[in-house]
Amino acid sequence: MMPHRYDRTMQDVTFPHLLAPLDLGFTTLKNRVLMGSMHTGLEDGRKNFPRMAAFYAERARGGVGLIVTGGFAPNIEGWAKPFAGTLSTSAAAQRHRQVTDAVHAEGGKIALQILHTGRYGYQPFCVAPSRLKSPISPFAPRELSVRGIERQIRAFVRCAKLSREAGYDGVEVMGSEGYFINQFLVTHTNRRTDEWGGVYANRMRLAVEIVRRVREAVGPDFIIIYRISLIDLIPDGSSWPEVLQLARAVTAAGATILNTGIGWHEARIPTIATSVPRAAFTWVTKKLRDALRVEGNTTPVVTSNRINMPEVGEEVLARGDADLVSLARPFLADAEFVAKAAQGRRDEINTCIACNQACLDHTFSNVLSSCLVNPRACHETELVIPIAAARRRFAVVGAGPAGLAAATTLAARGHEVHLYDASGRIGGQFNMAARIPGKEEFEETLRYFARRLEVTGVVLHLGTRIDAAALQGQGFDAVLLATGVTPRDPHIPGQDRPQVLSYIDVLLHRKAVGPRVAIVGAGGIGFDVAEYLATGTDLGHGSPAVDLPAWLREWGVADPEAQRGGVVRAQPEPPAREVLLLQRKPGKHGASLGKTTGWIHRAALKMKNVEMLAGVNYERIGGLDGPAGGAGRVALHVTFGEARKDGTVLEVDTIVLCAGQEPLRDLQAPLQAAGIPVHLIGGAHEAGELDAKRAIDQGTRLAATL
Ligand code: FAD
Ligand code: NAP
Ligand code: SF4
Repeated sequence: MMPHRYDRTMQDVTFPHLLAPLDLGFTTLKNRVLMGSMHTGLEDGRKNFPRMAAFYAERARGGVGLIVTGGFAPNIEGWAKPFAGTLSTSAAAQRHRQVTDAVHAEGGKIALQILHTGRYGYQPFCVAPSRLKSPISPFAPRELSVRGIERQIRAFVRCAKLSREAGYDGVEVMGSEGYFINQFLVTHTNRRTDEWGGVYANRMRLAVEIVRRVREAVGPDFIIIYRISLIDLIPDGSSWPEVLQLARAVTAAGATILNTGIGWHEARIPTIATSVPRAAFTWVTKKLRDALRVEGNTTPVVTSNRINMPEVGEEVLARGDADLVSLARPFLADAEFVAKAAQGRRDEINTCIACNQACLDHTFSNVLSSCLVNPRACHETELVIPIAAARRRFAVVGAGPAGLAAATTLAARGHEVHLYDASGRIGGQFNMAARIPGKEEFEETLRYFARRLEVTGVVLHLGTRIDAAALQGQGFDAVLLATGVTPRDPHIPGQDRPQVLSYIDVLLHRKAVGPRVAIVGAGGIGFDVAEYLATGTDLGHGSPAVDLPAWLREWGVADPEAQRGGVVRAQPEPPAREVLLLQRKPGKHGASLGKTTGWIHRAALKMKNVEMLAGVNYERIGGLDGPAGGAGRVALHVTFGEARKDGTVLEVDTIVLCAGQEPLRDLQAPLQAAGIPVHLIGGAHEAGELDAKRAIDQGTRLAATL
């Protein structure tokens, strides 16, 4: 597996495979890195074109070989949602000129993704091979007539021609992830009995017709990427011979490059979340590439999913898994990914930690995408970080995400910055987050900031719990308080017993936890602590997120050659202990978790038999007497609901309090009294619904203005 932890020796690594040019005959890509298509929301509005141009131009300047835009619908039926970005007229193509000109001016290349969502469309005009509603949209699609299918093909062709007119270097025909074309390929969604359904040759006709007619329309010197679904991760997905048959047919029909897709959107197996091991699916791409090579088909094949550092891409390419790697979210996190890799500055890369919090979660909430670790992503024209007009002197107290973002931004602008933390290590709560199985990536953010502090010249004072008196008289123009939070006290009678611990005791101080544990509070931290304890991370049990075979077993992913769609029965490791996860509110646990990742956390805990109790009142914690009382156990007395009924006793070895957090800002008043301007950021400003996304965004934005 790839190294997860920062290794300084990696600085000297070169990336010969990653940085090698790729000759496509009529054009050459300068390296093997493709920026994968991401729906950022910038596509969905005319007024966004200048922002979109700036967004892609920055990535082109950063050296990426080929950019693929977010999806544009070829017609209304293909909309992902009402009024989604569409390319169906010459007037629209003219607007795209802003984007293509900006990218070309930076020496980049860009292809437009044609995305027809079919039954995934969150809109009433959606169409599909058969009238079968998807589990992820409330709209039942209209079943297309034969003439209707012809109209969709023509819309693809028109969109491709307009892309060329708009100055794009190519198009990507989106044929995976369970979208329109994919829906024709499998019987799960295609129940037709005409020439567009039934035997596989009929089901794949749409994909092949689209590629063939697009090639005819755009001529030979235009890139056509076909995105093929290699492993559908749904029970009746494509078989491996079908995947191969399709790959042969679309390349014969004129596809220049085969990009690969993993899993339908409705699949119940995570494919890109942070708990998915790095490069978890490149072995499937290798199967395709090897099979095509044996037949003499040398079409370049792209692999993707959880490739987030240059050494990961390099190893994948060196192994022969693919000809190119596709990275999407890593280009939100760092526009200069390729340039930094090429210049021996790998340790300066701001790594995508696959949290989905500011990208996919935003998309699914109809909010413009950004990035937790880089709030400038998609906000390039609005969040500008100018060089300061005059050098000033700042103190930043607290080296958690908020303080790190603020200190490095201030210093990058030319200010003198002193950063204090009581701990001997930067990162604040991120140090605990990184210990959760499946959140190992969070360590990369700390590596990035550690290097960024050096590069920007922040003066770092670790192991320094600074107070107001010590800050006075040092000539600071202002103090930024990023002191974070303190755990909320739930005031449960009897909580002073030694068996009652806080999440900090467990995660940071590694205090011993018994075989049966109750967790009070089921917010983000309660879920994480449950995962940590049920996995047995404290007992030395490994994390499946860094052990690919274990992860594949855990989620039931099989070789698609052995099993249609690549799905088998999940075989999770047994839980390391009994965990009860409690919350006071009634209803489903984890309602506040990320839109695109909450289901993964719930499924992971279910696999570990974590018992979830809702509507709980914590009456008191007492000792145990009589034969029922095991040595050292405690009794958590609970009732349920507003009526405080059904009183019961939960006998456990340990109780872990994860009852939320309160802001820590005791330096504010004395500093203000001393006449020093104070700014609050991150948890020190507001603990309610705090996360690192808000902390980093707030720290960066404030520092950009001081
Ligand atoms: P903190 O991270 O709390 O940092 C405050 C710092 O201030 C600390 O280092 C402290 O030592 C220092 N400090 C305090 N007082 C002083 C003083 N007087 N002098 C010097 N130093 C001082 N967020 C997400 O977005 N996604 C996640 O997946 C996620 N997972 C998490 C998992 C766990 C287990 C935990 C505990 C948190 C998680 N979080 C997550 C929350 C996230 O870590 C916090 O929102 C974020 O760290 C808050 O940043 P901050 O800079 O405001 O404060
Ligand atoms: P949280 O998400 O606000 O959850 C606190 C939990 O404690 C809730 O379940 C709450 O629900 C319970 N609670 C509140 N007051 C209580 C009291 N007096 N007695 C008993 N229980 C009480 O906060 P958190 O779990 O501490 O997380 C802190 C922040 O870190 C969160 O805002 C979160 O965004 C972030 N974080 C995010 C992730 C992520 O994956 N995105 C992971 C970890 C942390 P009930 O009142 O219903 O019991
Ligand atoms: Fe990656 Fe998280 Fe940024 Fe999305 S928000 S690009 S997943 S780091």
